[in-house]
Amino acid sequence: MNAIGIDVGGTKCLGVLTDESGNILSWVRRPTPSTADLIDTLHEIVQELADAPTVGVGLPGLITPTGIMQAAPNLKDVVELSVATELRNRCGRKVHVENDATSATYAEWKIGAARGVADAAFVGLGTGIGAGFIIGGQLQRGAHGYAGEIGHMVVQADGIECVCGLRGCWERYASGWALGNFAGGVAGEIVAQRAADGDAKMIEVVEIFSRWVAVGLANLANIIDPEVIVIGGGVIESSAVFMPVVQKWFSQLLYSSASRTHPRLESAQLGERAGAIGAALLGASM
Ligand SMILES: [Zn+2]
Repeated sequence: MNAIGIDVGGTKCLGVLTDESGNILSWVRRPTPSTADLIDTLHEIVQELADAPTVGVGLPGLITPTGIMQAAPNLKDVVELSVATELRNRCGRKVHVENDATSATYAEWKIGAARGVADAAFVGLGTGIGAGFIIGGQLQRGAHGYAGEIGHMVVQADGIECVCGLRGCWERYASGWALGNFAGGVAGEIVAQRAADGDAKMIEVVEIFSRWVAVGLANLANIIDPEVIVIGGGVIESSAVFMPVVQKWFSQLLYSSASRTHPRLESAQLGERAGAIGAALLGASM
């Protein structure tokens, strides 16, 4: 059975129609609207993607198990929006709503870099950091749907101020934003290119940034002991520059590193489509 999945990002919404294996049959992209128009836009995307009985939606921020968006960093005026109920009423189909990183985790687990693994983590290093976990063969959501917010794990008490209002959150040191901050505003792709060309300053930026990425990954590995950690997010995922340096620091920072089995670090395979594909697969599985 075909399924519709929609990933709502900070600037754009990606809708996909997939077959039951998660292969994309067609897709549509729209700018992310103001929160007041979100349901309208989701409904338009559903109509454009044609007939499928289920709709999955991946949303940023805190999403309850009943599909209520309680807070979203990039959609500031959100207060308790019942996305699942309102979209179901509009389009008359089965609608399932999930956190976007949880959706991406599910896609990488079902058909991507963590296929066939019972214990895995996905970490997406975008503008912020999103994450999700598979433990004992089960997708984890936590008691209230909030599991995986490790971007706001504090790694530096009294450190850099975060958009969430706290200080020293991991995503101030290990996200795409952080990479640009360390590089003095130079874009991530340029940092990678210049470092590969031997630019000493940019090699240092890669080293500092990758060490901070590894700090969070080692903390995560110490908590859940996954077999694989899948690392997603534009530049880091697609560049050959970062992963070896992250791997070097990860191996050093892991607890009791010399006398244990290490989790594998893998680049994500589904890229920016992971959230939409995961939403489609989750919507169809409910
Ligand atoms: Zn924070």
